[in-house]
Amino acid sequence: MTVHSKQDWHAKAESLRISHRMVIGGNSVDAASGETFASISPIDGRMLAQVACGGLEDVNRAASAARRAFEDGRWAARPPAERKLVLRRFADLIRAHRDELALLETLDMGKPISDSTSIDVRAVSNCFDWYGEAIDKIYDEIAPTAASAVAMVTKEPLGVVAAVVPWNFPMLMAAWKVAPALATGNSVILKPAEQSPLSAIRLAELALEAGIPEGVFNVVTGSGPEVGRALGLHMDVDGLFFTGSTQVGKYFMEYSAQSNLKRLGLELGGKSPNIILSSYPDTEHAASTSAHSAFFNQGEMCTCPSRLIVERSIQDEVVETLLNVSREYLPADPLDPATRMGAIVDARHATRVLEFADHARADGAEVITGGKRALEETGGSYIEPTIFNNATNDMRIAQEEIFGPMLTVIPVDSLDEAITVANDSCYGLASAVWTDDLATAHKVSKSIRAGLVYVNCYDCDDMTTPFGGFKESGIGRDKSLHALDKYVELKTTWINISGRS
Ligand code: NAD
Repeated sequence: MTVHSKQDWHAKAESLRISHRMVIGGNSVDAASGETFASISPIDGRMLAQVACGGLEDVNRAASAARRAFEDGRWAARPPAERKLVLRRFADLIRAHRDELALLETLDMGKPISDSTSIDVRAVSNCFDWYGEAIDKIYDEIAPTAASAVAMVTKEPLGVVAAVVPWNFPMLMAAWKVAPALATGNSVILKPAEQSPLSAIRLAELALEAGIPEGVFNVVTGSGPEVGRALGLHMDVDGLFFTGSTQVGKYFMEYSAQSNLKRLGLELGGKSPNIILSSYPDTEHAASTSAHSAFFNQGEMCTCPSRLIVERSIQDEVVETLLNVSREYLPADPLDPATRMGAIVDARHATRVLEFADHARADGAEVITGGKRALEETGGSYIEPTIFNNATNDMRIAQEEIFGPMLTVIPVDSLDEAITVANDSCYGLASAVWTDDLATAHKVSKSIRAGLVYVNCYDCDDMTTPFGGFKESGIGRDKSLHALDKYVELKTTWINISGRS
């Protein structure tokens, strides 16, 4: 694998060709209205492209193209083994375009280029490989009926499905939906976030090159209230799969109820508790891993371990390590391969994140580092890694999703108190406990109301395990074979074989 220097990446960025039109029915198209919106890089405030600003007419065009493609069976009726080959070719093409896709991601939403190449692009290609590989190995069922009948339980694609995704992992959140949807034979309309539309457009172009037929994978760019809402309300969209905030997830439930009761999958917000117990033998390791996970991706992570619940007896040691690690995350040029903390997605979000430092002070927590903008001379949006100490769980910094590089330390006096605090949240996405006691690990895992529980690690995963949350963190799961169920209908065909009935 070629390793590039900061200068190489800047040179590549200068000569990057950026696709800015939507992909509908296999064609690269402008918005029907002709309108565009500016894609601004949070790295330096520079305009990257004027992107097609879709609206209702474009959603209608995409839905018609997707429906036509679905009905004539150009993809849905292909044998699973053929769909597999195409999806794997797509994964290969993504790998072949690693630098280009990674650059688009970094320029568009500000994450460090090392993360874009080694995490995002790799995980996206792996996801298409994985679902491609899976799809010709899954059997339907024959029900255990009496001998007078054969009852087949088969799976059929939903039809036209839409995926509406956020900006924090633009390609990966799309891949977690698009890959299982395509593998099961659906036609897809993808709507990327308006802050990060560029990689989605390029993915759809590569999909065509890989042999995914025209109309099977469409991308409509534009705003949430226009394009996202139109997809949610569309009478000819059979399923809507969303990753984003809990508030917008609730809107999608309303859209579904107001239209055709389309199936929903919702991957929403989080405020993940991370419990470090004094029984864990290596406090420094636990605290250091926790800090890396909290500041990774600028803290713009639905699973960010933003509530660090620590036994009071080891609080000082933990805090010292957090401070040490935070120094490794001082914001720097995202195109420098050494950078660990890049830019915040846009100026508006940076302002919102910074307000939490004021909330912390007003509520009585200590801001022991950060809480300020950085690199203002670049014209970009950067925030210093921030740690709040001696917080309580009723504070805004402990209850609301910040979605930025801010970590809240909440001291407790016992395991039971730690579990109570962990569960005192409207969210239930990820959680963790650090302990060397197996019984304690089981107790915490059983007691915590969250879709993910990490024991002595954080953010460990691969494609084999489901991802999603309890409570207001969502409905349904991405990843793993379980995700495939979201994109299919079950059909029972009961065949009477006993003569006339
Ligand atoms: P967001 O909800 O503002 O936007 C997500 C998508 O919804 C975007 O494409 C946006 O255009 C669209 N949208 C916005 N308003 C809409 C409306 N009124 N109708 C229809 N669509 C609309 O979220 P965001 O700020 O892009 O992302 C951050 C959120 O995503 C955080 O809450 C984070 O926790 C969540 N997230 C969750 C997961 C998960 O898997 N659970 C993963 C990543 C991010």
